[in-house]
Amino acid sequence: MPDLPFAYHAALGVALDGLATIGVRLDPRGRQVIDGHLRLLAAWNPAVNLTAIMDPVGLAERHVADSLAAIPVILDGPHRTLIDIGSGAGFPGIPIGAAMPGLRLTLVESTGKKAAFLRVVAAEPGLARRVDVRAERAEAIAPGDWDVVTARAVGALADLVELGLPLLRRGGRLIAWKRGDLAVELAAAGRAAQAMGGSPPWWRPHPDAVQDAAHLAGHGVAVIEKRSPTPEGYPRDPARRKRRPW
Ligand code: SAM
Repeated sequence: MPDLPFAYHAALGVALDGLATIGVRLDPRGRQVIDGHLRLLAAWNPAVNLTAIMDPVGLAERHVADSLAAIPVILDGPHRTLIDIGSGAGFPGIPIGAAMPGLRLTLVESTGKKAAFLRVVAAEPGLARRVDVRAERAEAIAPGDWDVVTARAVGALADLVELGLPLLRRGGRLIAWKRGDLAVELAAAGRAAQAMGGSPPWWRPHPDAVQDAAHLAGHGVAVIEKRSPTPEGYPRDPARRKRRPW
């Protein structure tokens, strides 16, 4: 597998200094898991096209640091089990799993070649036996009792509410990576959450020290807590969601 270049290690070092100020630290095993994931990504990406971001600084900042930045938010609620919807090349699920060695992780990815890659990563030391990969659409997963649902770059927040709330236990939380002007998206997600037993969404920008250290200005997460059981009939199929969006 290819070595990771100096620019990656340098950028990740600065980002990790910023993350340490908010209490996010990687032990040596966690760092090995993250570097191993990225080496596999570098080996597979030319043939399989798993991600558009492959420059060393982008990998460190936009993939790894952006994923790790929400760990304090995850630790604020129940966090024994986590399901990541639309994992793609493994973000944010794999870095979070690397930093939280007690976490049981489910990665859901509907594109077969990406799920095949995730299975290879999940078999690596430090992840094996606690990471499950599901090669299917999130809509096809039976309602569950996960503590946390995560999603990054997978769709509108209201759609994620519809996909994610049925998978959560009561008190569990949907955490979706977002950035930019979110007023309209948060309002629509609020209507969806109200219909499905969720709290109003709240917005947690990544702390300034992390935004500065990892060049993540404006990045953060939207959070919705499941407060009551999801009514029957959700998630609707994608065609019906398109006809009647929130
Ligand atoms: N989360 C990754 C990241 O931030 O780098 C990947 C983002 S990529 C833009 C979106 C991924 O979600 C794609 O790999 C796509 O196949 C997957 N996806 C989209 N809708 C999905 C669904 N309903 N169920 C499972 N996977 C889905």
